[in-house]
Amino acid sequence: MQYYSTNGQAPLASLEKAVIRGLAEDRGLYMPERIPVLPDEFYENIQTMTFHEIALTVAEALFGEDIPRKELQRIVEETLSFDCPVVPVTRSIGALELFHGPTLAFKDVGARFMARLLRHFTQHSDDPRTIHVLVATSGDTGSAVANGFLGVEGVRVHVLYPKGKVSPIQECQFTTLGQNITALEVDGNFDDCQALVKSAFMDGELTSRLRLTSANSINVARLLPQSFYYFHGYAQMKRLGLAGQLVVCVPSGNFGNICAALIAKRMGLPVKRFVAANNANEVFFDYLQTGQYIPRPSVPTLANAMDVGDPSNAARIFELYGNDWNAITADISGSVCSDERIREVLKYCREKYGYQLDPHGACGFHAVYHNLGKGEAALLCETAHPAKFKDTVEAATGAEIEIPARLAAFMQGEKQSVPMGRDYADFKEYLSELQ
Ligand SMILES: *Cc1c(COP(=O)(O)O)cnc(C)c1O
Repeated sequence: MQYYSTNGQAPLASLEKAVIRGLAEDRGLYMPERIPVLPDEFYENIQTMTFHEIALTVAEALFGEDIPRKELQRIVEETLSFDCPVVPVTRSIGALELFHGPTLAFKDVGARFMARLLRHFTQHSDDPRTIHVLVATSGDTGSAVANGFLGVEGVRVHVLYPKGKVSPIQECQFTTLGQNITALEVDGNFDDCQALVKSAFMDGELTSRLRLTSANSINVARLLPQSFYYFHGYAQMKRLGLAGQLVVCVPSGNFGNICAALIAKRMGLPVKRFVAANNANEVFFDYLQTGQYIPRPSVPTLANAMDVGDPSNAARIFELYGNDWNAITADISGSVCSDERIREVLKYCREKYGYQLDPHGACGFHAVYHNLGKGEAALLCETAHPAKFKDTVEAATGAEIEIPARLAAFMQGEKQSVPMGRDYADFKEYLSELQ
């Protein structure tokens, strides 16, 4: 399969090139040249299949031309060492829990899959050099990427994070790992971290010497595996008798996760419509109302993984629908959710239905709870474990949240990080010692 750029000015790329480059030469996002449609029998029998079987079928359709079946099987198995169950919340809303991975965030699947694809490419490349992954993080991405790549041969990860600005649990998730993971504690904010990573990618001298790549959600290797969730979620809703008129609701920030859901529909998944749930960052919501896409600075909210003012995957969504606003709004509606409403929903859903949402899932619940038509049922993505947002959730509900053992275990390790100034000169000196 070849990948083309959404900007249309770059040559087609192989999967290997698209994964290692991240962005195309024209700064567009890579898209698969064609989206394969899976056969009717797959959808007829999907409710009898395991998550692995479903994911392997989807992975074969997307990556089968580029990765041998045995290797793909191994990659899928290693990636999905946990389940994503649907928990019925109300009679017509099932929560698809995407947070059972090692860092309790849905980004684990994309990060793990990408790490293993890179391992495959380094093993089968004439270029013996290590691949260096640079990732700037305000919290969740760094932990998912660091854990996803931990111990993967041929790859080293450098996580840049703003000193004093990530939660203690998140910091432990990428500073205590060791092995091929290095945390760089930058004396600055998230934007400074991102600027350092950008400067490194623009530094011709560096990029010609080192094999550098990024692991943010613009990477097709992180984006496409997220589609597995939606097939598996559909299968479970079918078992519950709720898949007839399925509404898929995705709490969205950079719109990578919902983009994977839209791709699943293109592959034939019977989804009636989608809801993109936002917090107070409502750029895409406004686009859906007006047809005008106007990026703006993000505002901080309780659902901070969705604090995005210019969602990078919007370009892919426009591309999928040929820039046709009517077609986009026929498939996708939006919603916004204030911090005040997030707190109310956290409490209400817990007390009325006995289900504890996290602040991101709360935006999703708010988006569909009063907005389902007759006969519709919603598959609501719960993107993070509520314990990750312990203070917010406890303050809203007055009830205590238990920290899962897996999360607590990170707090035991010893923090190790490299202090870094926010000037590129410092970072460059660090990078110059790498090979
Ligand atoms: C990353 C993230 C999101 C947003 O996902 P996008 O693919 O960027 O839209 C939502 N919730 C949580 C918990 C996340 O970590």
